[in-house]
Amino acid sequence: MPAQKIESPVALVIGGGIAGMQASLDIADKGFKVVLVEKEPTIGGHMAQLDKTFPTLDCSSCILTPKMVEVGSHPNIEAMTYSEVIEIQGEMGDFQITIRKKPRYVDLKKCTGCGLCAEACVQRTRIANEFDMGIGKRAAIYIPFPQAVPQKYLIDPDHCLMLTKGKCGKEPRCQKACGTHAIDFNQKEENVTIQAGAIVVATGYDQFDARLKPEYGYGRYENVLSGIEFERLCSASGPTKGSIEYNGVEPKRVVFIQCVGSRDKTVGNEYCSRVCCMYTAKQAHLVRERIPDAKITICYMDIRAFGKGYEEFYDRVQKEKIIFRRGNPSEIYKRGESLMIRGEDTLLGEPYEEETDLVVLATGLVPRQDAEQLGRMLGISHTPEGFFKEAETKETIPTSKPGVFLAGCCQSPKDIPDAVAQASGAAAMACICLAEGRS
Ligand SMILES: Cc1cc2nc3c(=O)[nH]c(=O)nc-3n(C[C@H](O)[C@H](O)[C@H](O)COP(=O)(O)OP(=O)(O)OC[C@H]3O[C@@H](n4cnc5c(N)ncnc54)[C@H](O)[C@@H]3O)c2cc1C
Repeated sequence: MPAQKIESPVALVIGGGIAGMQASLDIADKGFKVVLVEKEPTIGGHMAQLDKTFPTLDCSSCILTPKMVEVGSHPNIEAMTYSEVIEIQGEMGDFQITIRKKPRYVDLKKCTGCGLCAEACVQRTRIANEFDMGIGKRAAIYIPFPQAVPQKYLIDPDHCLMLTKGKCGKEPRCQKACGTHAIDFNQKEENVTIQAGAIVVATGYDQFDARLKPEYGYGRYENVLSGIEFERLCSASGPTKGSIEYNGVEPKRVVFIQCVGSRDKTVGNEYCSRVCCMYTAKQAHLVRERIPDAKITICYMDIRAFGKGYEEFYDRVQKEKIIFRRGNPSEIYKRGESLMIRGEDTLLGEPYEEETDLVVLATGLVPRQDAEQLGRMLGISHTPEGFFKEAETKETIPTSKPGVFLAGCCQSPKDIPDAVAQASGAAAMACICLAEGRS
């Protein structure tokens, strides 16, 4: 495949979550060019999936969407979505990077984001929407969520009948519906080579796979949800438009379980994920707000409310008639339509069983599956847990490789304010190295 060369864009940012976006904006505002590479079809990362943010309960997308638009329209930022870095050579001041752009089968210049193609798609409501964690459905031609940047559709090659079977009726309906002739089934993968003086790595985290704790029944019982799944259920732009329900039924009893995949030697994660205590308090508050008569229980090991305003928020939630039960359950099993929680209350020193309608697991933050591969490409190392390793323990931004900086949860689990602060620090360090004329 021929590699196309574009002129030195100066800084490469890998990952377009809140950390990568903040770093890109800071660098671009200082007059340097930025190439932002995002694996998914849209920037936004996990923050785009959240409903409200603790401790202020600000609407997540109200903060994020303007930033996404700014990144998408900034004259110094080239956002390459649905793309991945596949090779990195060189050193600080002169990295040569090869980026693979996956085909969207939709011409970005022609697509107006009108959505007529998705309405016409034969598979309109059949495919699990990844952004909604499979709770909602989408077409084979889709936009991940209404505020996505870029506001452009793409075709899912695993489900489109034209791409999988070579046929979709007499003529693909999406192609017929598209007034600007944007759909192009002949698009191919493309490699692009760029030069950059500095690299900011902001690839974030994966959610712990709760199936590794089989005693909680995740994946077996549909009313056992992960933290992000519950965020989508609460979100006004989510599959239930913010109504907390499953299978159309509003739960009257909800149990939250903390530290699922964190501080747990049985799954090899001894570290604390830092955000779960607070996001559980937030989610419990949202249940109280939307289902005022619900019985809400939080099972916890101990509460870590370390950030600004966090202790006060935890205090507020405690007063909202929420039961805090110390000790994580040992088992969840089904009785009729209900779930039974079995465990020991370690404050009372007695075993208990509690019946509930819905369980929400505070799934922890784990390193991205492909972190090791990317680390090898970048020439940077990992902590034993698998997060990218900083050069010195007291400096969380520079890595052992000069010119490569870390931002956000790829370095360790953290909340949004800390991810943003670290991203601004990484941007400042990248700017210093670019300004020294090393690029
Ligand atoms: C259920 C839940 C609720 C939460 N609620 C809150 C809250 O209320 N308040 C709060 O402060 N924090 C909250 N958090 C934490 C918050 O999600 C993180 O702090 C924040 O998302 C971190 O941003 P990030 O940019 O570091 O990572 P991410 O959001 O994970 O973004 C990383 C981006 O990099 C991309 N990427 C990954 N690998 C590659 C690659 N190889 N190449 C290109 N792109 C790549 C990803 O696709 C993604 O877009 C919550 C977390 C969870 C799990």
